[in-house]
Amino acid sequence: MEIFEPISTLYVTVVIPLALPQNYTWCLPEHLQSLAQVGSRAEVVLRNKKYAGIITEIHNRKPDSFKPKDVLNILDDAPIVLTNQLKFWHWMAQYYMCSEGEVMQAALPTHFKLSSESVLLFHEAYGDDFSELDDEEYLLAEALLIRKELRIVEVQQILTASHVYPVIKRLIDKGVCMVWEELKEQYRPRIESYVRLAPAYATETAVSALLDEMGKAPKQQAIILSLLHFQRVDGTVKQQSVLKKAGASSAQLKALVEKGVLLVEKRTVDRIPTLPLAMNLDFVLSNEQQSCLNAIREQWLKHPVCLLHGVTGSGKTQVYMKLMEEAIAAGKQVLYLLPEIALTAQMIRRLQQYFGGYITIYHSKFNGNERVEIWNKVKSGQARIVLGARSALFLPFSDLGLVICDEEHDPSFKQQDPAPRYHGRDAAIYLASIYKAPLLLGSATPSMESYYHAQNGKYGLVTLNERFGGLALPQLEVIDTRNMLGPDRTKVIISPPLEAALSQVLQAGKQAILFQNRRGYAPYQVCQSCGWIPHCKQCDVSLTYHKIQNKLSCHYCGTAYPVLTQCGACGNHHFAQQHFGTERIEETLLELFPSARVARMDIDSVRGKYAHDQLIQQFEQQQIDILVGTQMVVKGLDFEHVSLVGILDGDAILGFADFRVNERGYQLMEQVSGRAGRKGQQGQVLVQMRNIHHPVLSFVQRHCYEDLYAYELPNREQFQYPPFTRLIHCQFRHKKLEVVQAASRVFAEGMRTGYGVYMVGPAVPVVGRVRNVYLQELLFKLPKDPRILHACKHMLSQQIILLHQHKDFRSVGVVIDVDMV
Ligand code: ADP
Ligand code: ZN
Ligand code: ZN
Repeated sequence: MEIFEPISTLYVTVVIPLALPQNYTWCLPEHLQSLAQVGSRAEVVLRNKKYAGIITEIHNRKPDSFKPKDVLNILDDAPIVLTNQLKFWHWMAQYYMCSEGEVMQAALPTHFKLSSESVLLFHEAYGDDFSELDDEEYLLAEALLIRKELRIVEVQQILTASHVYPVIKRLIDKGVCMVWEELKEQYRPRIESYVRLAPAYATETAVSALLDEMGKAPKQQAIILSLLHFQRVDGTVKQQSVLKKAGASSAQLKALVEKGVLLVEKRTVDRIPTLPLAMNLDFVLSNEQQSCLNAIREQWLKHPVCLLHGVTGSGKTQVYMKLMEEAIAAGKQVLYLLPEIALTAQMIRRLQQYFGGYITIYHSKFNGNERVEIWNKVKSGQARIVLGARSALFLPFSDLGLVICDEEHDPSFKQQDPAPRYHGRDAAIYLASIYKAPLLLGSATPSMESYYHAQNGKYGLVTLNERFGGLALPQLEVIDTRNMLGPDRTKVIISPPLEAALSQVLQAGKQAILFQNRRGYAPYQVCQSCGWIPHCKQCDVSLTYHKIQNKLSCHYCGTAYPVLTQCGACGNHHFAQQHFGTERIEETLLELFPSARVARMDIDSVRGKYAHDQLIQQFEQQQIDILVGTQMVVKGLDFEHVSLVGILDGDAILGFADFRVNERGYQLMEQVSGRAGRKGQQGQVLVQMRNIHHPVLSFVQRHCYEDLYAYELPNREQFQYPPFTRLIHCQFRHKKLEVVQAASRVFAEGMRTGYGVYMVGPAVPVVGRVRNVYLQELLFKLPKDPRILHACKHMLSQQIILLHQHKDFRSVGVVIDVDMV
């Protein structure tokens, strides 16, 4: 510990949740000196606004350019943020070129981030018994009871005190009020209706009399019968299950309630019930899996990061679980990261089955209260395994001993907006290094970057080449669609061979997944005589036709337009629908297989918080025969009865212009194929494609990632792309085209002397205008030399300041994305 001269003044450096160029300094008055600790919150004023910031340093370096203001108060008795986290924040801000305040904004639950702007809401559940509160708390609670909400400036008037935050904090802790931002997350408890028979029908004779009486109302009878069925099986009976089994409507059930036959009761149900702290890993690893486990341990002796390349269905998850068990037994904490969308109820259930209450879940859909709760549990060490999306990296781990990053190749690990634009995998590697915890990356289709590091000895590499139980990987067949035409003489949707395969699957009582990257009905309407395509008025993209809502919609800004009946260029009335989306496929399937149960999984169909999980569960329970979906169906799901996977438009996957197209195409096809034939017999994959000689197809056919890597690597080197370089992408935004063009040119000129050789652009991006804002982009492909990287980032920051000092360019938005994916 540092010893300070008693007479010297103390200062604190504080990070506040704003995009500031640096952390500022405040003076620590004497009466607060014994309370202040690094990681605690300090109440400070900046530009006449109050903030609860985090102290990052306590020192005696007097700033020489200005006279710092006093800290008003210290809000916490003990640090809420640990020094390891502050280190992590600092690194993230440096590496991804943003402010520590922006990192803090992303990292801390809302409760911890009070400012003058915050709005407090009365918590109705607390009631009006304020006998437990002290005088100041009482005053504020009463005002909240009457007004329901107060801004912090108003709180300052009520308390006529300069130190309001401690009072607010106490009221939040006691549950009297909460911070408004949480409402935006719209957390709602899940309410379910349960039904039972009225007490008059408690005896069997009463029930059979009732059933006789209902002979004339067969649906009502069916309701009673299914209720009796569930009562025998489960004890409690959900209204929804009864209706489904009886094939009855809620109106029919309501009639029975009105007759006094049934009682309905609404109950709040826990989504994530608390489970006992019990581990039960009752499975045995196969020989391959066991030697893989040993190899990982061995690799960790030499490399802190190890890549597990295991084919789909090889049992990577089982291997992770054994490693987690060891870490827990050693008293450590575990962080298990997944891409947000792969964090499904299926995965959660699977882990809970083995680890019970040792599993804590954390992702962006939790509300403020839940987050604070988890935060504290992780900090105290009570939470042992955190299963989370990338935001879980910000939790205050007290003793992190293992990090697993599953599906490490997934581009959705990268945060897009707002800053910090960090990559969950790469940030995990840094976080693990702070705690000296070993890290395991896992994938069936590793990213080029990770595999390159593994090849070059930076990471350890371990492989699992076989599916569990010696099951063969699915067989992939290409259906040549060059000579096939679909409806309207456009692309074929379901080719005859695929149709035949589907009908076999249905006959055998198996399931199928059909993958298509486009949602909607048809990506666009095209005029049949002049080729005109309707575009969004605010964005430079074509509109997608959604048949169900009967609308054209822009997938960039969300604007909906009425469907066109007349061409905007030639006045013709005939439109063709080019290509096809998930909605169209669903319709086609229903025409081909009228009795099949078909469902669609894309962001249009799974808007609700739990819709995605529900659909997966229905599919799991074989209530759906064919699932049509976008990317969403690809993510690490484990279905037992899927024997066929169809990729409907392989050309679309391998046809877009991006240096990662082959890598992504391989990942997508291999991952989607990986859903087929996971139990029992070998699965089948059919790809409809015109470009049948595309090299990536043969790599997928042989399930040979190594070949893809060997094919792809020289291209990356030749064109200076990752893993040989690091990309820094700069985007410029402005309402006026001329302004954004001029600004990006001026900016590029400023960079040219030092970094011109690495620079591409400025240029108009693929979509050059979104919501009426014009865009320009500039790309740097930098050699992997930390000095060059550091110097370039420094120069970029300076150029941004210079640009914003220029009177014409003050309002030009600049977004920097380091390691763009
Ligand atoms: P991956 O994550 O590599 O795709 P999974 O871990 O999901 O593979 O394993 C595929 C299937 O095989 C799962 O249903 C899993 O339960 C089963 N499985 C894998 N290894 C074992 C094992 N050692 N014992 C029992 N079941 C296993
Ligand atoms: Zn638009
Ligand atoms: Zn026309």
